[in-house]
Amino acid sequence: MKPEKITHNGNTVKTPDNPIIPFIEGDGVGPDIWKASVRVFDAAVEKAYGGARKVCWREVLAGEKAFRLTGNWLPDETINGFREYLVGIKGPLTTQVGEGMRSLNVALRQILDLYACYRPVRYFKGVPSPVKRPELVDMHIFRENTEDIYAGIEFMHGLPETEKVKSFLINEMGIKKIRFPETSSIAIKPVSVEGTERLVRQAIRMAVEKKLPSVTIVHKGNIMKYTEGAFMKWSYALATREFGDSVFTWEQHRQIAVQQGAEAADRAQQEAVDAGRVIVKDVIADAFLQQILTRPAEYSVIATLNLNGDYISDALAAIVGGIGIAPGANINYDTGHAVFEATHGTAPKYAGQDKVNPGSVILSGALMFEYMGWSEAAALIYENIEKTILGGMVTYDFHRLTDNATLVKTSGFADAITANIYKGKG
Ligand code: NAP
Repeated sequence: MKPEKITHNGNTVKTPDNPIIPFIEGDGVGPDIWKASVRVFDAAVEKAYGGARKVCWREVLAGEKAFRLTGNWLPDETINGFREYLVGIKGPLTTQVGEGMRSLNVALRQILDLYACYRPVRYFKGVPSPVKRPELVDMHIFRENTEDIYAGIEFMHGLPETEKVKSFLINEMGIKKIRFPETSSIAIKPVSVEGTERLVRQAIRMAVEKKLPSVTIVHKGNIMKYTEGAFMKWSYALATREFGDSVFTWEQHRQIAVQQGAEAADRAQQEAVDAGRVIVKDVIADAFLQQILTRPAEYSVIATLNLNGDYISDALAAIVGGIGIAPGANINYDTGHAVFEATHGTAPKYAGQDKVNPGSVILSGALMFEYMGWSEAAALIYENIEKTILGGMVTYDFHRLTDNATLVKTSGFADAITANIYKGKG
């Protein structure tokens, strides 16, 4: 089999039988979890396709390893590798807090314009959870990935350019709301029509295609009216304009309520639900964070801005077992570029100990296979990760929350999943 590139025709991904897939091992615990995960990936593909398909893994460098070997944290070859081969996967990379270089993760997302961060959150049986009914959580988070306060337009107090920005705001724009102008740092939060629409379009498309009940726009538009509030307005406008009768929005509900009264609006919404239309609704971010604990079954697909999405995905991950098993993808649905990744960080205190849960990278790989159209390999991973946990083989993070489980290392957990994959019916 000759290794070939995955391609994209503007609409669908085309995967050859022997695709070249670039990977970044990652910093900290990255090498441990990558080594373990890749064995699971190869086993799932071999079992699913009986040897007719095989991934040709190609390492590209980023982070500490890249700096050690090339003097560059994010070499051009790495970016070009992801650009050329379209689909890749990565472990976590170190970022300094409050100083130093920009986040490599954020840089990759911005350079490749991976505008949608897609994080599915579902419960696997046997996983210890802090809530009584974690199985009620079954959500698909679409987090905008290139704008918002994450754009990295920040000015540190004391620098001449910061004073210039402040002077413009105060003297030319008449801004009087900076409480301590002498010592304030400043950040800028861009949120655009295009950025909102391309993200929300994918969220609604998924809900319509998978026949999911709702899409919820999560925002803080009561306070940030022209960024987060506008995100909500533009989302509703797009939903009605592009998805017509496939959706029913709370904006439509509000209009009917004004014209014909609340009962008529509720009736119209119920009729839409009965007809299988996707309900597009919105909720303020803080209320949403309460409701995912109290009424998670009311939410399905979530579309939100960059910072909200970061908080929300970790909070939801905690409900279904923690960031050790939370997968993620960064996707540009127009070019097909996609980087799948562990959503947790480098957990430096556990580096090299073969200790942490490799579930986040393993499930990110399953997501990647689904994206490539290899859903049989993905299904084997989902089935056997659950079987392994139910069988009582868990890493330290689940072990400390479970009675009567067997503690295994990163490699041991992957070995158990791999053994289950091969043991299953083929
Ligand atoms: P972190 O590395 O995610 O670790 C925080 C805690 O989460 C760990 O101490 C551990 O908790 C738990 N954890 C993380 N990964 C786990 C796994 N695979 N299995 C089980 N438990 C796991 O967060 P951080 O300490 O805030 O960040 C460390 C570095 O990672 C920073 O440089 C940060 O910028 C970077 N980071 C990178 C990414 C990325 O590459 N996508 C994402 C986030 C952070 P316990 O000790 O309680 O068991």
